[in-house]
Amino acid sequence: MKISLTSQMLLALLAGCICGLVVSHIGIDPSYFKPLGDIFINLIKMLVVPLVFTTLVAGAAAVGDVSRLGKIAVKSLIYYTVTTVVAVTIGLIVANILQPGSGVELNADAAKAVSVTPPSLLSVFMGIIPTNPVKSMTDGNMLQIIFFAILLGIAVSSLGSKHNHIHQFFDSFAEAMLKLTSMVMMYAPIGVFGLLTYTVGTYGAEVLLPLIKLIAVMFIACIIHILVIYLPCVKYSGVPVKRFLSEMTSTILIAFSSASSAAALSSNLQGVQRLGASKPVSSFMIPLGNTINMDGTAIYMGVCSIFAATFFGIDLTFDKQILIIIIAMLASVGTMGVPGAGVIMISMVFTQVGIPLEAIALIAGIDRVLDMMRTTLNVLGDATGALAVSKAENDMQPMQD
Ligand code: ASP
Repeated sequence: MKISLTSQMLLALLAGCICGLVVSHIGIDPSYFKPLGDIFINLIKMLVVPLVFTTLVAGAAAVGDVSRLGKIAVKSLIYYTVTTVVAVTIGLIVANILQPGSGVELNADAAKAVSVTPPSLLSVFMGIIPTNPVKSMTDGNMLQIIFFAILLGIAVSSLGSKHNHIHQFFDSFAEAMLKLTSMVMMYAPIGVFGLLTYTVGTYGAEVLLPLIKLIAVMFIACIIHILVIYLPCVKYSGVPVKRFLSEMTSTILIAFSSASSAAALSSNLQGVQRLGASKPVSSFMIPLGNTINMDGTAIYMGVCSIFAATFFGIDLTFDKQILIIIIAMLASVGTMGVPGAGVIMISMVFTQVGIPLEAIALIAGIDRVLDMMRTTLNVLGDATGALAVSKAENDMQPMQD
């Protein structure tokens, strides 16, 4: 009997959870399982820079016309902004209603002051133009790579048919990278198993239980965001919801188990293209969204702000909550797609509205679990965006089997 890769990954998820519980129960060090996951993460990270670079050059060259690229960019940015603002707002509303911070009893030692320095937003935006594109690639600086790749793509297309081979080169290179993604995915079940065993083994029930209400509120807010934003986008694109879910399962599992959007990027790009997202749109929106569109992180900032304010007895007035929406939106743009990035950026929000940074120490213990949820949403939001904008551009392609 042949079990599909997705089913293998789901089984691995289950096996990892069980094994993690057993490991923590009998006292085996869960870090023995970490290398299994690290191999997987490194393999997929190996793909990201060449994949993003080549697909984006080929994508921009295929569009050719700069005004069409501009239209795609404007629609993408509108999608990112609207969905992120809705995300924080949902986080705030759900947390205001369910009050995750009330009745929480944590011992005072948990609340130690922590010092974190988030990067300034200005430096994020000013850093988009690379002075040395090769360095951007070795550093894995996604925004700089995107900037350079789009310009190079436009230049390639303006060279005309005499230089078609350059375009074909990038096209074939991008195809090869997608093929390599499929090859790496063969290892995914073992990777997911290793990641889950390590995570569940490390963050056992004792760590999670005191803050179970916070975890539940985050979960509810994420589900509402999926229902209110993502489902309508999938429906609008014309892709059947069932097909969307089955195609996205492996991407969701990678995001969930690794807590890194960057790790899920290649699988996400492959998935949306199979669902019919246009190549120019998806090769632009998936890497860009991976870096700047983080709905899950935005929800987290909303929920945790209310949590922390209640815990410390701070009154978050209506204008302060509006300020949270604005700052959280900007902070989520500056958050990198790596595990734990959001907990550093949330200090920007806390500082602006006068929540003590000690709150971060309270959340830090369970942050991995919140991170798994928010990363899943961060990645899903990029996928539904690529589908919706492809549809808005009248450029949906036939789905691949
Ligand atoms: N881990 C998240 C991601 O990779 C970012 C965050 O920490 O919020 O998308």
